[in-house]
Amino acid sequence: MVAVLKPGATQQQIDNLVAWLKSRGLDVHISVGRYRTILGLIGDTSQIDIDLLLGLDIIESVKRISEPFKSASRTFHPDDTVIDVAGRKIGGGHFQIIAGPCSVESEEQILNVAESVKEAGAGLLRGGAFKPRTSPYDFQGLRAEGIELLLEAKKRTGMPIVTEIMDASHLPLFEEVDVIQVGARNMQNFELLKELGKIRKPILLKRGLANTIKELLMSAEYIMAGGNPNVILCERGIRTFETYTRNTLDLSAVPLLHELTHLPVIVDPSHATGQARLVRPMALAAAAAGADGLMIEVHNNPLCALCDGPQSLTPEQFADVARRVWKIREAVTE
Ligand code: PEP
Ligand code: MN
Repeated sequence: MVAVLKPGATQQQIDNLVAWLKSRGLDVHISVGRYRTILGLIGDTSQIDIDLLLGLDIIESVKRISEPFKSASRTFHPDDTVIDVAGRKIGGGHFQIIAGPCSVESEEQILNVAESVKEAGAGLLRGGAFKPRTSPYDFQGLRAEGIELLLEAKKRTGMPIVTEIMDASHLPLFEEVDVIQVGARNMQNFELLKELGKIRKPILLKRGLANTIKELLMSAEYIMAGGNPNVILCERGIRTFETYTRNTLDLSAVPLLHELTHLPVIVDPSHATGQARLVRPMALAAAAAGADGLMIEVHNNPLCALCDGPQSLTPEQFADVARRVWKIREAVTE
């Protein structure tokens, strides 16, 4: 249930109301927006009399929300959430490109890619240290050493870093990581999501290979319910019967998610298509569809990449994509 307060509600009135709601066993999330304060009532609201609430001086309207994702829902929080990663803002009209290799492979590789994507306008550097590979015989990532190398690249370039976590026990290694990625394969690892709810670092939550939009939002809810409001959603393609592409990019998820949630939504055209030549058109389409950012795989030598070479752009290709993406942004934003 959501209660929208009148603009003139005083802090004392709000505190009294919140105390009363809490005494009825409800959890109250307070969202202070630009124009309105909204209370999100979480718990068993069936025993709350809507007319009683409407009779209070400070209440403008009360609405039962049917979505099970209360914290992520736009009904409760009408303003866009803007996530600030070391000065790089994502959401609410702010757009960022996250770029870098699928996996961190060596110091030379990550520093080289970091310098070139920065030069081309990427705001954040990505790189996998712990890699979720289908085969146990494939390169599994440099693990702790990969994170060290990302931190070195961060120090040299000033770019915040994004890297994937696969197990909550690795969290101490992520202390200086700016954004923690939860990959598609772990979108419903609920114990991991609960642990990430206990921290305040931004979490980049990727949509699972075969998950619905509602399931993605419920996973975001797991993180938010634990107390971490800093969630960025990522559409990265879903599995369909189509085999020409690695996945099928569900672009309508972008405007749809913007309707359903206040959280920023970015698109990963690299994993969505699996093919470098399809990355540019899909990146442009995602920007046109209103995405708040992009995540693009870039490798200094895609032919020799230890992971996801076929979908990786060269730094030159990436620079071309980034340049065109900014033009699309100009065309679609007012
Ligand atoms: C990745 O970003 O490198 C990755 C493994 O992506 P996904 O979880 O979307 O497959
Ligand atoms: Mn990859």
